[in-house]
Amino acid sequence: MHTIQYKTPQLTVFESALFRTTSTLIETEEFLLLVDPNWLPKEIENLQQVVKRKQGNKPLYLLFTHSDYDHIIGYRAFDNAQIIASQAFVDNKEKTSILQQIKDWDDENYIKRNYPIEYPTVDIIIKADGQQLQIGETILTFYLALGHNFDGIFTIIDPLGIWIAGDYLSNIEFPYIYHSSDAYEKTLAKVQPILSTHSPKILVTGHGDVALTHQEILKRQTDSYNYIHTLRTSIQKGETFDFEQLMEGYDFPKIMKAFHNGNVKLLTKEWRK
Ligand SMILES: [Zn+2]
Repeated sequence: MHTIQYKTPQLTVFESALFRTTSTLIETEEFLLLVDPNWLPKEIENLQQVVKRKQGNKPLYLLFTHSDYDHIIGYRAFDNAQIIASQAFVDNKEKTSILQQIKDWDDENYIKRNYPIEYPTVDIIIKADGQQLQIGETILTFYLALGHNFDGIFTIIDPLGIWIAGDYLSNIEFPYIYHSSDAYEKTLAKVQPILSTHSPKILVTGHGDVALTHQEILKRQTDSYNYIHTLRTSIQKGETFDFEQLMEGYDFPKIMKAFHNGNVKLLTKEWRK
């Protein structure tokens, strides 16, 4: 079963035993919204039970922050939901390989699931910054969040003041850049406008702890900017990046070295262009 990382009457942030990945449930008088239900079969079964217990006659919305396999792994465990994701998520050409990553992971870990592994079919497609979805008294505002991968979204839920950030603004991971460092910085630049427009009370990140103050959100933004800037500069000047110093702020040096090396490769490619 998941750990419950954070809870209010309308928000529960579940945390998986794996990679501290979050699954988020928002409940209002009018609907349930489940974000990125993930990882282990027992954890997903628990989410199924929680949803069943709370749903009653309310519609269930399922939101995918982006298409990385760990975030879509629980899709078909929740039927009769309205699915929300971005246009790029719909147009993703790597669907087959994403599903293969799930199947490989389950195989390597002897995992069986009581639901099929499929790529989400999206009902509500997010196409542009500022797009809104009103459900009763609640307004969801979406912003495209690219850079980590190419189909991410931020979702701000008002008036609850909840910001669902996907794999950005984590306190336990430096930026993992699979798509573009420029796009990543443009996404980070959306922090201030979002803070001033919505004044969120809580930010839920895809991996790690929720942020409860604007100060904490801004600190994470600065840390992310600094990492990208330092890495880019080191590549452009041909200097060594001080990975050991970076790791003073993070916990898992072996796996994080692999992600860092991936970033080095991508930014080197960008620099050579
Ligand atoms: Zn991701």
